[in-house]
Amino acid sequence: MPARPPLVAGNWKMHLTVPEARVLAGQVVEAAGRLAGVKFILAPPFTALAAVAEVVEGSPVGLAAQNMHWEDKGAFTGEVSGPMLTDAGCLYVLVGHSERRQFFGEMDETVGRKVRAALRHGLSPILCVGESLSIREDGRTLPFIERQIEAALDGVDARAAGSVILAYEPVWAIGTGLTASPAQAEEVQAFLRGWLGQKYGNAVAACAIILYGGSVKPANAFSLIKEKDIDGFLVGGASLEADSFIGIARESLRVDKEKQ
Ligand code: PEP
Repeated sequence: MPARPPLVAGNWKMHLTVPEARVLAGQVVEAAGRLAGVKFILAPPFTALAAVAEVVEGSPVGLAAQNMHWEDKGAFTGEVSGPMLTDAGCLYVLVGHSERRQFFGEMDETVGRKVRAALRHGLSPILCVGESLSIREDGRTLPFIERQIEAALDGVDARAAGSVILAYEPVWAIGTGLTASPAQAEEVQAFLRGWLGQKYGNAVAACAIILYGGSVKPANAFSLIKEKDIDGFLVGGASLEADSFIGIARESLRVDKEKQ
């Protein structure tokens, strides 16, 4: 088994009713049986978590929430806590997705609180970082990403850091049809792995799963995952159709054999 088997996570965002979610999750479970070398995670909306948990139970497909609050309970109308997510069957939670930062005022500081809360409850955070187009054009991508990851992992020790999955998602590539070139993505992902190595040591860095996200499709997955530090994908739009999501997984598996 390779040290970092490819991981393909589907972020369904604010899409799919419960019956629709059941159908798509069933198709992914069925594909996961055929593509045993790929790890799958599905992140449905909160309303479909329980239904998808039933469908994926006993399968290799993991369940993620798209967001969480850092407190365990309390007067936080509209929020969902870590214990509620584990109760619903989640093993993972997206934290710091750029849509949360952009549209819902998510700050580096609250991202850090959410990461620590997720870890406290045994959830693996899928921590999203990424720069806007103006930051990239100004040549400030790496310092910006460094600030995001420093804030998000503040107070997280090496043992806990081993449960964190990173996702590099350039904001300009999310839902736009623009994809980072393999070299652009690899530059940032290698930087992230190096940063983990400096903070937590080489063993943590070598095992860390670092995903790329941003308009990934079956047609571009192969060229991206060939890069040394791209271990899989966080997929938005293309995860809403079984054929495209499973197609991305198939491409990832093909490259994994060449990489090891
Ligand atoms: C995402 O939402 O995390 C994402 C990468 O979206 P898309 O694949 O649609 O760009």
